[in-house]
Amino acid sequence: MVKDKIIALARSYKTEIIANRRHLHAHPELSFQEYKTMAFVEEKLKSFGITNIEKKANTGLVALIEGKNPGQKTVALRGDMDALPILEQNEVSYKSTEPGVMHACGHDVHTASLLGAAKILHEIKDGFEGTIKLIFQPGEELIPGGASLMIKDKALENPKPSSIIGQHVMPLIPVGKVGFRKGMYMASADELYITVKGKGGHGAMPETLVDPVLIASHMIVALQQVVSRNASPKIPSVLSFGRIEALGATNIIPNEVKIQGTFRTLNEEWRAKAHQHMVKIAKGIVEGMGGELDFEVRKGYPFLKNAEALTERAQGAAIDYLGSENVVDLDIWMAAEDFSYYTQEIDGCFYRLGTRNEAKGITSGVHTPTFDIDEDALEIGAGLMAFIAVNELKSK
Ligand SMILES: [Zn+2]
Ligand SMILES: [Zn+2]
Repeated sequence: MVKDKIIALARSYKTEIIANRRHLHAHPELSFQEYKTMAFVEEKLKSFGITNIEKKANTGLVALIEGKNPGQKTVALRGDMDALPILEQNEVSYKSTEPGVMHACGHDVHTASLLGAAKILHEIKDGFEGTIKLIFQPGEELIPGGASLMIKDKALENPKPSSIIGQHVMPLIPVGKVGFRKGMYMASADELYITVKGKGGHGAMPETLVDPVLIASHMIVALQQVVSRNASPKIPSVLSFGRIEALGATNIIPNEVKIQGTFRTLNEEWRAKAHQHMVKIAKGIVEGMGGELDFEVRKGYPFLKNAEALTERAQGAAIDYLGSENVVDLDIWMAAEDFSYYTQEIDGCFYRLGTRNEAKGITSGVHTPTFDIDEDALEIGAGLMAFIAVNELKSK
């Protein structure tokens, strides 16, 4: 049976997958600078015997594993390769050797797992029909997102996959388990950069000034109505401001106030409408109070929707592979992921790989300097992905 074969191969490659992950972890590269990582992945793929490899989007790779009857169906598997500007605080043998750069989001795990899946799938390629497309992408952490650039560079063409599978580490889920969610899963995320301009001066003479601090305060309160009054209660939305910069003093009103925030939701139509609402409300308040407004919405990734039928099949495969007690249902997650760009083009399934182990003290969240994983997750990350792919090639 193919499942037993994959389980056995994942087990026998475990040491190698861990070694690859440790190499990547020790040599992290920032978004869109993944040159050494790309070379490492290419060299590994070649060493497995995978030769159909193409460079995409400068530091990304697409590779094909053809089974019997390769034109029948194509399924894509995606791994992201970039690290974050964080100084690692873990004291481990595979600690980052790049000061201030760290694989704190587990993309080393995704890349090593996808390499492991590739080795397994190449090994068993005479046992399945269709083609597996491996997508190793750069720059998940940075707008415009490596996924959007890979798509622009035709990563989803020639052959066009019918579906794409991606996985992401989840330190909230214990190692040994994985999580799935059908339908709406992750949020779109837009960055807001606002400047409120007034006329500064002595704090004792407000009648001669246009106070941007007061205007900005009113504006921030008013903008919350976009979520509380304009958004449908059925669509999750969040608007948060994390930075206000008014560089005056006790007796100095500044000329301007700069504000930064984030807007997240799970519906593209509402997202576009919300942008208009926010600008309109802000403009009304700022200009009504005598100030001037500069409101920039820097659009981030779209929201992520897992295709129902595909996710149902992938979850079924995971239950088959790990047992139902090890497959959990996920809640909506208001973070963003550029995997969503693929799901706007074709059916996608983005699932979570449990990496937590409280007994070993492995509990830190992603994007923290102490993030790490229980490396037992890698055997599952590689084997399960290979199994989901083979299972998907068989489906109609
Ligand atoms: Zn991240
Ligand atoms: Zn990530």
